[in-house]
Amino acid sequence: MYVLGLEGTAHTIGSSIVTDSGEILSKVSKTYKEKEGIHPREAANHHASHVIKTIKRSIDRANIKKENIDVVAFSQGPGLGPCLRTTATAARSLSLSLSVPLVGVNHCIAHLEIGRLRTEAENPILLYVSGGNTQVIAFSKGRYRVFGETLDIGLGNMLDKFGREKGMPFPAGPLIEEKAKQGEKLVDLPYSVKGMDVEFSGIMTAALNKDAPLQDLCYSLQETTFAMLTEVTERALAHVRKDEVLLGGGVVQNKRLQSMIETMTKERGANWYVPEAEYCVDNPAMIAWTGHLMYDSGTSISVEESNIKQKFRTDEVEVTWR
Ligand code: AMP
Ligand code: MG
Repeated sequence: MYVLGLEGTAHTIGSSIVTDSGEILSKVSKTYKEKEGIHPREAANHHASHVIKTIKRSIDRANIKKENIDVVAFSQGPGLGPCLRTTATAARSLSLSLSVPLVGVNHCIAHLEIGRLRTEAENPILLYVSGGNTQVIAFSKGRYRVFGETLDIGLGNMLDKFGREKGMPFPAGPLIEEKAKQGEKLVDLPYSVKGMDVEFSGIMTAALNKDAPLQDLCYSLQETTFAMLTEVTERALAHVRKDEVLLGGGVVQNKRLQSMIETMTKERGANWYVPEAEYCVDNPAMIAWTGHLMYDSGTSISVEESNIKQKFRTDEVEVTWR
């Protein structure tokens, strides 16, 4: 069986084809780049103008014919409305024209499933930290449940906003990581953990109001926010009695965050995993693979049921494949 998956929740439009054994035959992405973060309508226009080429290329690179495709999967949410609508329209048209089933995939769950495919993690807690999302997710009592999440913005967006105020180009996350290496002094910033949830806006405002060298601010932003994420992840591990942490999302490429997670998991006798960078960020292979798992276990949707879900909750999904 060949599953074609389309990702298009935010800045990336992509198409990928996977097989039953989890082989990724092709993965083609096009990312909308903007200096000032993301403008949903313009990103959607970008996706609309690239989606057909992207799909064709993914079929060519997989060395199959479009008639060989058995299922079309797409990112149904959560994400930016205009981007989701564009992607869903393409997925519906493709499914109708090929007369093959359609599967709507939750983007956050897809980050977890691609991590399970690409690493040795079997039953992990996912720490998912991207531009727009920050969540701690684990499989528990038949569903993927959110054990902790941001109450305001995703950590990546916060780092990008901070960077913008400081004159850094977008995305600022990697530049903040570089600057932070020269930081020496920990600037006092609020540590915002509320129960199992976290908050980042107040920390950013506090950092912007401090009169301190940029490298110290970058260092302190990382130390504070990464410690918060590590604390929540550790408590989730203890709560669900798991011994694996999987990382996903663009921010987890940060080596300092990885080293904090490594230290914490080592102390608990747990393991941590991070997929290759191309599978940490938004990518269509994660949608194709999760779509495969879902379809293989009997889940698909009709075109009438394929409305996008901007606020698609992780625990809304009935997990039929585990
Ligand atoms: P995503 O939304 O998953 O595609 O990830 C993009 C986000 O990851 C952006 O907000 C980037 O600033 C952030 N990011 C990428 N690399 C790093 C890094 N090394 N450290 C911190 N943040 C990063
Ligand atoms: Mg993502």
